[in-house]
Amino acid sequence: MTSAAAAAARTILTRLHEVMASRSHAQAKLNTVVEVIGEGLDSEVCSIYLLREGMLELFATRGLAQEAVHVTRMSVGEGLVGTIAANIETLNLAEATAHPDFSYRPETGEEKFHSFAGVPIVRRERAVGVLCVQHVDSRRYEEVEIEALQTVAMVLSELISNAGLVDDEDYGVSSGQTGPELLRGLTLVKGLAGGMAVYHQPRVTIEHVVAEDTEAERQRVYHAFDKMREQIDRMAAQAEFGVGGEHEEVLETYKMFAYDEGWARRINDAIDSGLTAEAAIERVQQHTRMRMRQIDDPLLADRMHDLEDLSNRLLRIVSGQLGTAASKGLRNDTILIARNLGPAELLEYDRRRLKGVILEEGSLTAHVVIVARAMGVPVLGRIRGLRGIVREGDRLLLDSDAGIVTVRPSQVLVEAFEARFAKSRERQAAYAALRDVEPVTRDGTRITVMINAGLRDDMPNLNLTGADGIGLFRTEFQFLVSATLPQRERQTRLYRDVLDAAGDRPVVFRTVDIGGDKVLPYLRHNDGEGEENPAMGWRALRVALEREGLLKAQARALLEAAGGRMLNVMFPMVSEPWEFDAARDVFESQLAFLKRRKKPLPKAIRYGAMLEVPALAEQLDILAPKLSFLSIGTNDLTQFLFAADRSNPKLAARYDWLSPSILRFIRRTLATIAPYDVEVSVCGEMGGRQLEALALIGVGIRRFSITPAAVGPIKELVRKVDIARISAAMNGWLDSPPPNFRAALEDWACAHGITCD
Ligand code: PEP
Ligand code: MG
Repeated sequence: MTSAAAAAARTILTRLHEVMASRSHAQAKLNTVVEVIGEGLDSEVCSIYLLREGMLELFATRGLAQEAVHVTRMSVGEGLVGTIAANIETLNLAEATAHPDFSYRPETGEEKFHSFAGVPIVRRERAVGVLCVQHVDSRRYEEVEIEALQTVAMVLSELISNAGLVDDEDYGVSSGQTGPELLRGLTLVKGLAGGMAVYHQPRVTIEHVVAEDTEAERQRVYHAFDKMREQIDRMAAQAEFGVGGEHEEVLETYKMFAYDEGWARRINDAIDSGLTAEAAIERVQQHTRMRMRQIDDPLLADRMHDLEDLSNRLLRIVSGQLGTAASKGLRNDTILIARNLGPAELLEYDRRRLKGVILEEGSLTAHVVIVARAMGVPVLGRIRGLRGIVREGDRLLLDSDAGIVTVRPSQVLVEAFEARFAKSRERQAAYAALRDVEPVTRDGTRITVMINAGLRDDMPNLNLTGADGIGLFRTEFQFLVSATLPQRERQTRLYRDVLDAAGDRPVVFRTVDIGGDKVLPYLRHNDGEGEENPAMGWRALRVALEREGLLKAQARALLEAAGGRMLNVMFPMVSEPWEFDAARDVFESQLAFLKRRKKPLPKAIRYGAMLEVPALAEQLDILAPKLSFLSIGTNDLTQFLFAADRSNPKLAARYDWLSPSILRFIRRTLATIAPYDVEVSVCGEMGGRQLEALALIGVGIRRFSITPAAVGPIKELVRKVDIARISAAMNGWLDSPPPNFRAALEDWACAHGITCD
């Protein structure tokens, strides 16, 4: 904003401030407003159109015929005024009649005016009206005038909303994109859901637009800038921004924008014009948005989102509205929108209202996705430009089965979706009917199907699915949902409740697997440094062995909770046998302690390990005699085998679970462990997919621990399988792999009546 524009706007704003503060009726205020603006901009005509019942209605004018007030109405998209509202754009025309959208309204008497400039009046990102000026002379308005007009429009939006001149429902009528839009993404968790779009980081609502004390507003912005830059610098130093994804690129752009003097100066100028800090930030952002909209370059559009992010961050700091949508609570069925999320952030949401999640990034085995799967919440990921298209409050239909989301659907689309939803519910009901059906193969082998869990709330899934037990209880989830380290007593209570709920079905408790993408703010590495490669870093058993107090407390909690019952303990990320020994020793010394204290002890303790670090496979014969069970964690195993970060969306398509490398690895593991009395299961996400489970059965897996929603589909699969046949096929393919393993298995499964997708 130039200083001339600031001065012009400032004069008008001061007068408008007085008008707004006056006790007169809303209509009288608007009448004064058009006079003030007309005079201030030396304009022959100044008119305000507001949205009422979906139509743009002339509410006040100086210069046009007064009889037209509340008579002239046009729909959004109709005429110049309608076009401005529909596209949320400014028009500046030397000759209004030459514009293709011009529509002549004789009742206004506007024929003698040639030049025309109009700006949208925006509230919550939607046009709720239009402010325009007209002149007899044919001339284009100067940039200074347009900017002053835009600033005034912001103030008007506050006046209009305070006066209740626009119905709240009307906010939904007009937007930049009014029609339905179909977006495609990567299915991360299957499922269908409908709901309102809610941003994880909500946009800030601006309460006051006109400043009482300009100097104070300037100081607030300076402070906010300092704080924001500090945050960005800290992020860069700790490299903890987001989870996976394009950290560096994003951070670099962030830093560039955060320190951009031009941006700060424009905000400062907007404050000079009389706006509050919040309004000035928003005003500059609106301006940038409008300019960028005219540039058709996808790369720039991406950068634009970064700037939006940053601008929003600045707004949040300055307004003190810091919480996420979770802290405000969800009011409707919700589809949550975010660039990326951590698992703990997702768990903060009300499960009854959270129906789906849409991410700009995201990958199949990121923990947030695993948590969502466990919650039964569909997730669609990797939709670029999402935040430019979907607005807070938009209706969304998420069909993650098909990998699409419909934004602002028409009635026809809603009906089609409902029909698909009903079908999918039927399918779910069919799976639910398998609850009491035993997963036995056609040739009579009983396959064990257990579920993965992590919270008390997950326990009802045992009965709902009819699963054989809990093959993986991720104890770190309790840590993730707590603001502080859960005390031993709290841990004991949870484990006892879980065992109570499971009854005589086994539960395998995995000791904490913190680190990687499961970050705990209250637990950091000793040296305080961030990690370059957290998935391969200080996590899981490595943390537990170093912070022995942590493991000791957990061991005590588990041993006490399992008093008089069987306790199954599993250690994550074991890389070498000594780590298993060290962890077991912690349990054994706690057991001895409880024995001395004559406390009730578990009936028996079974120790197991996860096989997720490939190195362990090379010493499995050494570890096996000490193990009661081994669980193959294919999520981590595949990321390490393929050296492909499971959280990095760019790598999501780089490997396939149905690859000879993974399946040969598992076949060899089973051969190594066969001579020992060790139960082997698969507990990674791979086991919950029909085709993948078929392959696993083919290489010899007989025990699965999977996400609850997959129990039905896997039981259905098991009952169609003939083990001898699939084993023969798999062995043949693994000895001499076909060019496309997945395609070969797909064809085979279809030909054998197992599954045809
Ligand atoms: C795995 O790595 O496969 C696994 C089950 O553990 P998590 O997903 O919790 O790392
Ligand atoms: Mg793992």
